Order: sequence, then C-alpha cells, then structure tokens
Amino acid sequence: MQELHTGILIIGAGPAGLAAASAALNSGKQILIADDNPLPGGQIWRGGPGKVRDARAALFWDRCQNALNVQWLNSARLVAFSHPHEAIFELPEKVVSIRFERLILCNGGRELLLPFDGWTLPGVTGAGGLQALIKAGADVRGKRIVIAGTGPLLLAVAETAQKAGAEVLLVAEIQPIFKLMRFMGQLILHHRSKALQAISLYWSLKKIPYLSNIIIEKAAGDGQLAEVHFRRGDQLMTVQADLLACGFGITPNTEIARLLGCSTGGGAVIHDERQCTSVPHIYVAGEITGFGGVEKAIAEGHIAGLAVSDQSISHGDEVRREEAQHFMGLLRDTFAVNDEVRRLASDSTLVCRCEDVPVAELRQHASWRSAKLITRAGMGACQGRICGAACQIMFGWDAPELRQPVFPCRTSTLAAIAASSLKEAK
Ligand SMILES: Cc1cc2nc3c(=O)[nH]c(=O)nc-3n(C[C@H](O)[C@H](O)[C@H](O)COP(=O)(O)OP(=O)(O)OC[C@H]3O[C@@H](n4cnc5c(N)ncnc54)[C@H](O)[C@@H]3O)c2cc1C
Repeated sequence: MQELHTGILIIGAGPAGLAAASAALNSGKQILIADDNPLPGGQIWRGGPGKVRDARAALFWDRCQNALNVQWLNSARLVAFSHPHEAIFELPEKVVSIRFERLILCNGGRELLLPFDGWTLPGVTGAGGLQALIKAGADVRGKRIVIAGTGPLLLAVAETAQKAGAEVLLVAEIQPIFKLMRFMGQLILHHRSKALQAISLYWSLKKIPYLSNIIIEKAAGDGQLAEVHFRRGDQLMTVQADLLACGFGITPNTEIARLLGCSTGGGAVIHDERQCTSVPHIYVAGEITGFGGVEKAIAEGHIAGLAVSDQSISHGDEVRREEAQHFMGLLRDTFAVNDEVRRLASDSTLVCRCEDVPVAELRQHASWRSAKLITRAGMGACQGRICGAACQIMFGWDAPELRQPVFPCRTSTLAAIAASSLKEAK
C-alpha cells in the first residue's frame, strides 16, 4: 500500500472542495485533494472545470494546479479510516493510505430516490441520474421523457435533456402552486440573481408543460417503461413515454462524517461558524451540510479552507455564506417531501432493489437494524444508500448504522485496510 502524508486532506473535488483548496493554498500548508471521479468538478461541474460555462470552476482549478503545495489524487475513493488521522483510498490499480493533520469533507450529496410502483422498470431513472447519463454521453435524441418529483433539479434536468435533443413531455412537480409562488416571491425579495436565473430557465423551457400539485401513481410497461400514471387532485392522467426521470431532492452524504464521530442533525452534518464539526480536526462544506446549490458550496468551502489553514475569515465571506444558507432554508421549506410522497409505494413495491425486499416485508419491522437483519434490506451493492434513505422517509427510521469499509471494495483493499489497522494497533 502506498503511503502519503499531507497537512490538509480534502475529500471531494466539487465546488466546495475546489473552493476550500483554493482558499487554503495561500497558507503554504501542504494540501491533498482526492475524488473518486477521474476529473474534478463534482456533480454540477461534471466533465471537468475547463468544459463548463461557470468561470469559477476553471479559476479554482487553475489556482490549485499552479500551486506547488496542492496535490490532486483522482479516481480515489475513500473506503475506510485506519486511524482518525489516516484515510484509506481505493484506486483502480492500488490502495493508498493518506496521513493528515486536518480534514475537510466536501463529499457532497446524492439524489433521494423514493419507491413507487414500477420504479424498477428499465427506462426509469433518478432525475440527477438521467442528467449524469446525458453528461456522460448517453444518446437521448428523439426520446420522449417525463421528469417528475420535486425540487429545482427537475427544471435543470429538463434543460439538459432538451438541449441533448430529447422531447421533454412534462415536468411534474408535487408541490402546490402557492408554495412555488411563495418561493419565487422570496427569491425576488432576497435572491434577485437566482430569481432571474429561474425565470430565464423557465422561459427557455416554455414549450414544456410544467404542472404543480401532481404526483406519480405508477410507471408501467412490459419489461420496459411505456407509460406513466399521475394523479392531480381527483384527476388521473397517463403519459406515454420512453424515459421517466424522477427525483425527490438531494440527501447529504453523511456516512464518512458519521463514521468519524461528527454530530449530525436534520440529515446533515452539524458545524460551527468556522465550518468545523464536533470533531475538532474535521471541517465540512457543501451539500454535506444540506442541499443549497453551488453558491452555498463555494461560500462554505472558501470559509472551511481559510479556517482549516488558520487564516482569518472576512465579514464579506460570512455574508455570502449567510445569503447562501438562507437560500438553502427556502429550498428546504418549499420542496420538503410531504405525507403523500411517503405513501407512494404499495405493499408489493420493492424498496431494496438489490435484495428484492418489498414494502410489506419491511413494514413488519420497527427499525432499520431489525429489517436489515431479517430481510437483508441494505445488504446489496448499494449498501443501503438508496433504500436506507427511502426507509428513513417512509417509516421514520434512524439512519442505517455504519461500519467499515463505507463503500464496497476489492478483497485486496480489505486486506490492506486490515493490515493498516493492525499496524496502528501495535
Ligand atoms: C445527481 C445530482 C445532480 C445535480 N445537478 C445539479 C444541476 O443541474 N444544477 C445545480 O445547480 N445543482 C445540481 N446539483 C446540486 C449540486 O451538486 C450542488 O449545488 C454542488 O455541486 C454541490 O457541490 P459539493 O462540492 O458540495 O458536492 P459535489 O459537487 O457533489 O462534489 C462532491 C464530490 O465528492 C466526491 N465523493 C463523494 N464520496 C467520495 C468518496 N467516498 N471518496 C472520494 N470522493 C468522493 C464525489 O464524486 C464528488 O465529485 C446536483 C446534485 C446531484 C446530487
């Protein structure tokens, strides 16, 4: 196993991680930024900083690349810690252990997927999932696409799909119109540039029907998605489609932080005004502290980078973060999942799609632990990342317990983790 040392380790090279590295590098401290993708950029700048319209991506990346004290480790997935100051990464050809003094977790969030009848049919994906597929080159030209669920990501995905040549038939938003109007009013009052962005996005999509207060009943088809059934009040609606992209918001990736003992609340990692967690050498920034978009990720990443490298934080930095966190609050209030969404699935709907466990079997249990032990829910390839989050929403269970490795890994990596932990114990 290759061994590296650094003063500051940053996990995640999305907007938060790049902003953190860019702010910390002035201190002269040694920084290592690691990400499991081959290119930096995270979710929104997927494809690499040079290829996106947002100039901030290239600016941060150029600063990092030109600094002698910043090292970049790509295709490196954090899988375990052999010590609170030593992280183990799996790379395609090897395992690397990194010893660090301080850590910034910028490992983002993931899409919240909720089960409904037919959600396992080929042709049904997550909304962000479809966007990622298109950005990776999937050909959707001429495909009839329906986008459903809740949150601003639905419109962003509609834009991506439309630009890629798809025929977007409908964007179906669960929230009622009064909530959406209130959200827009708040944007105009407090976040003028976001309001303009939203209006221009809505305008560019004006040929696509956007319905509020509409909920998925089921996806149907014979071995492949053919139609999507919706309910809007008392009205039932069917739309013939090739693809259905469904998203219910973003859930923070708290696993690594929880493994290290950082406190969480409301599904996100708790931090102080310096972005420091309850564990003094660990800082957090971006989606891991709650879904708030790219401005929040950058504002928090910048502050975390300054704080972790003992530089001072300006009033302007704090104001930018406050504004971004206010926007996060608006998103949370407007697009929170409601009781109707909790009841989308029927008894026979599979919740754990890795181990084929339906709602009816899970309902017999009082906790995730009991359900996992008896039904094998959460024991498949995704290790409960999808069904665990769904069960928290559907049954109000606590987050799944964690143990190492946090991600499935090769047996050779497991052996390296064990050897490293033994060395630490001696
Ligand atoms: C599926 C999806 C689609 C989105 N689409 C949009 C959009 O179109 N428009 C928009 O405004 N916002 C979008 N967002 C929100 C957007 O992600 C955020 O606004 C912003 O990118 C958050 O930045 P971040 O740095 O916190 O996280 P991210 O950009 O998610 O970066 C986190 C990075 O950490 C890496 N990582 C995670 N776990 C590990 C690990 N164990 N080891 C190593 N690396 C790891 C990830 O690969 C990723 O590169 C999307 C979010 C998701 C989840």
